[in-house]
Order: sequence, then structure tokens, then C-alpha cells
Amino acid sequence: MARDLAAVWHPFTQHAQWPADDPLVIDRAEGVYLFDTDANRYLDGVSSLWVTVHGHAEPAINAAVRNQLERLDHSTFLGLTHEPGIRIAEELLRIAPVGLEKVFFAGDGSSAAEAAIKMAYQAARQRGQDRPLYVHCAEGYHGDTLGAVSLGGVELFHATYRPLLIETRMVSSPGVLSAGQTRPERAAQVLAEMRSLLEREGDRVCAVVVEPMVQAAGGMLTHDRSFLVGVRRLCDEFGAAMLVDEVATGIGATGTWFAVEHAGVTPDLMVVGKRLTGGVLPLSAVVVRGWVYDAFLGAPDSGRTFFHGHTYTANPLACAAALANLDLMHARGTVQRAAAIGERMAASLESVAKYDGVVEVRRMGTMTGVEVRSVGVRTGFDVCRAARRRGVIVRPLGDVVVLMPPLGISDDQLDELIGALDESIREVVQ
Ligand SMILES: *Cc1c(COP(=O)(O)O)cnc(C)c1O
Repeated sequence: MARDLAAVWHPFTQHAQWPADDPLVIDRAEGVYLFDTDANRYLDGVSSLWVTVHGHAEPAINAAVRNQLERLDHSTFLGLTHEPGIRIAEELLRIAPVGLEKVFFAGDGSSAAEAAIKMAYQAARQRGQDRPLYVHCAEGYHGDTLGAVSLGGVELFHATYRPLLIETRMVSSPGVLSAGQTRPERAAQVLAEMRSLLEREGDRVCAVVVEPMVQAAGGMLTHDRSFLVGVRRLCDEFGAAMLVDEVATGIGATGTWFAVEHAGVTPDLMVVGKRLTGGVLPLSAVVVRGWVYDAFLGAPDSGRTFFHGHTYTANPLACAAALANLDLMHARGTVQRAAAIGERMAASLESVAKYDGVVEVRRMGTMTGVEVRSVGVRTGFDVCRAARRRGVIVRPLGDVVVLMPPLGISDDQLDELIGALDESIREVVQ
């Protein structure tokens, strides 16, 4: 740890505080468990920041990566192609909502969000429309690069950079309710706000950008499906693209392959990341409708090319991991299992939701946020720390304790996770 503190700067970490928080050095992982260098075992309750699907060290994924490594470690996707990249694109189109036709790869969620943001603008421009504006939601999160931050709405993360950002119009969060309001009422209210905005400036808007069903980093804020149905209608009416960020929700977490399925809508651009490789390697993608792709076609000197891409785009090892992950998910019925895990979580959190110290339990499939009443400077953190003493790793978003178990978690392990959370909440806020 001393060597870490001497050399390393960690993401989303206040280093003036961190050494006093007694950080762990993680040594290895197996299944749903992480082990530190003192051989203590911890249940990975946030699936290593929302990525682990079947569990750590999944033999089939490890074997796929090893085999790929022996055959082709890396080759650029700029002007060349390879089998793992082609196959994972085909697989993504097979599971994506009907109507999505082409896959553009990136590395992290942010880099795919960034690509999608540029695509939406350029596609409109090449269809003869000047639409330099984006509409997005308060409490949204799309990553930490500047385009993604421009479309973010989490003040704590994003306010600092405002002078640097592209021009957008932000509507209220569909997941933050006023007193006595239902989620469908809130959805209708935010849609009305979006409509009046689009009536004023809709002909300048290239895309409406939303996290479907759950605003995850904003605090696991869930909204009604009617919100997505309404956004789809407004996009059609005003000629804007519907750009959904499925980085947190996609690949099974909500009990469907993609969260837009809950609303039965097909977006124009869909961003996928996090769970795609099963949690082993970074790989993200933008999956688009044909009209988006077609807007970029033209002669080499037409300037219509998408001049965008990253050095390690579609890295074959990451593609091989993703293929093995999706194969396993099909074979094991992981998406249906995720829905069942969600139901079990709902049942075991019923008593927790009734504690005085708990403001609200929000959940969509396995994606769960337990908002605790603030009783100190870092109540959410204190609950997570208490859980760590009970052998469970969870992370707070402010005073929202996030549970995002690996989809391969067993019922017993789920009980272990919820049990530790229950005790920790009682210890800290009850
Ligand atoms: C995590 C996340 C991102 C950013 O992905 P990175 O891989 O961290 O760059 C974007 N959008 C959503 C909804 C996310 O949850």
C-alpha cells in the first residue's frame, strides 16, 4: 500500500482522505469473490463496478482469451478486419432490438458514448440538416470524456467542466419524483418539458440522449417505461435521433438483454459497454440503425467518412472474451436468471425498505440502490465500510448504496450479500 500511495493516482478518489480509509490490495478473484493480499475473502457486490457477469476466472472465457492470444493478439480494425470482430458484431445484432443494423467498436463506455455523440451530429449534417444541439436529462451519466460530460447531469462530477462543454439542453430527471408523485406522472411531466423545448429548438437538435429505465450513476434512479416510449415519439416527431446509453443497463442487468426492451422501443443509436466481455477486458460498441450508417456513405473525397477510431478498437482478445461471455449467457439462460435474481433481491430487501434509516429502495432487475438517511458526512460510505467488515464489497453513490451482483451469483451468495447490507444499515443508520 505504501508503494501505491507513493506512485499511483486513482480514479474518483480523494487522495487526501483515501490512505485513512484503509484501502485493500486485491490479489486474486474467483467466482463472486475477491481476495486481498492478506487472503481475506470479499463478495464482489458491485461486480467490479458493474462488469462481472458469470463470475471472476470463468474457465470458458479464460480459455477463449488464451486461445485467441495464441492465434492473433491484435491487428488494427482501421482498414483491416478479423473473425472475432465480425462474429461479435453479428452476435450483438442478434441480441439487439430489431432495427439496429451496424456495429461500431470502441474500448470503454465513454469512448463509445463519444463516438455516438459525434455520429448523431455528423449523420444529421450529412442529411443536409444543421443540428448542433443535444437534449439530455439531469442526473444522467455517460462517461468522463468531454462529450460524455457535456451530456451528463450529475452536478458533483460535471459542474467543474461546464465552461469547456458543447452546447446542450438539459431536462429534468425522469427518476427524481416530487412529493406524492408517481413514476408515470413524473415521466409525463418530463416529456412535456422535453416537448416544449423541442417545439422551440427541435430543428437544431440532432439527438435526445437517455439512460434507459435506470439512471445508474445518478443514484440508481428508475423511471417508468412510458418515458422511453414518449422519447421515441418525440424523436420521430422532431427528427432527432434517439441515443440510448445501455452501458450500465445492457447485457442482462435489468432482466432483459437491453433495458429498452422493457418499453418495446428501438433507438437509433445504442451504446453498449461494461458487461460485454463478461467483465474481463474493455470492449464497447455503438449499435446503429441503417439510416445512421447510410448517412456516412459517399465517395472517398466526399468528406462523409466517420473520421474517428481508437488504436485498440475491436481488440481480438476482448472480442474473444465477449463471444465466450455471450455464448455462456445463452447457454445458461443468464438473462432470465438476472430477472429471477432481481425478484429475490426485491423480496429480501422488503424489510430493509421499512427501516427508518432507509429513504428508498430502487431496483430494476439486478440494479439496485438503497438510499439511506444521512446521519453523518459520509453515511453511504460508512454503510459500505460496515459491509466490508462483514466480507462484502459494495460502493456508495453519495448516500445510495449500490448493489449490482454478478449475474452468476447463487441464491445463497445473494442472501450473504443482502444479509451483510441489512446488518450494516442497522449498525450505521438504524
Ligand atoms: C459506466 C458508464 C459509462 C462510462 O463507461 P466507462 O467504461 O467507465 O468509460 C457510460 N454510461 C453509463 C450509463 C455508465 O454507467
